[in-house]
Amino acid sequence: MTEEEARQVHTTNHVAKTENLDNAAPPANLTDLSSAGNRVRTYMYWPSTSSVNVFELARAGFVFTGIDDVVKCFKCQGTLKKWKPGDDPLEGHKEFYPDCPHVVALDEIKKPINTETQLVDLLTVCDGVGYRLRQLQTIQSKASGVEPAKKHLTELQKRLDTTERTMHLVMKQMEAVTKCLAKTLADDPAMSGDKSLAEITEGLVNLKESNV
Ligand SMILES: [Zn+2]
Repeated sequence: MTEEEARQVHTTNHVAKTENLDNAAPPANLTDLSSAGNRVRTYMYWPSTSSVNVFELARAGFVFTGIDDVVKCFKCQGTLKKWKPGDDPLEGHKEFYPDCPHVVALDEIKKPINTETQLVDLLTVCDGVGYRLRQLQTIQSKASGVEPAKKHLTELQKRLDTTERTMHLVMKQMEAVTKCLAKTLADDPAMSGDKSLAEITEGLVNLKESNV
């Protein structure tokens, strides 16, 4: 992204709000944009052609505006767009909005993104997905039983089928992460004899045996 491009920012964009199906406000811990995981959840319609990692954008403070690839900082409201492969969101934020309190705070902490941060952000995103699923379940249970139009039902079933397949991939991915984390922690002397680590490791073994 060039400086000129970054100057062509839209300053009037706002983050797209999600529709609330049940008139009940989502829990505050799922709407608080000071949480990077919740900022990730604004990237629902982020262009799939973009190679920039939405988790990196969110950790750098940005929420998606819903327009092209324009992102906006939750703190300084500064916007950036026209992301190119290899662009570093935090570096871009620092370059164009060096006085942003979020950028300054990250610099002060000097804490690199670590596995703990990644797990917390993933967990927040999963909480959001769980909340959405419960909303869908609630609204489904309110349906009167009227036979829905077949084309809509077919589409719904197709989408749920795709979701199930994707969920299976996520499950497998989480299993791989768990194995890797267990191996990493097993090398840490402070973790020797840790009960929860032993439980996880044992769980992995049991799962494998039950699969045979
Ligand atoms: Zn900012």
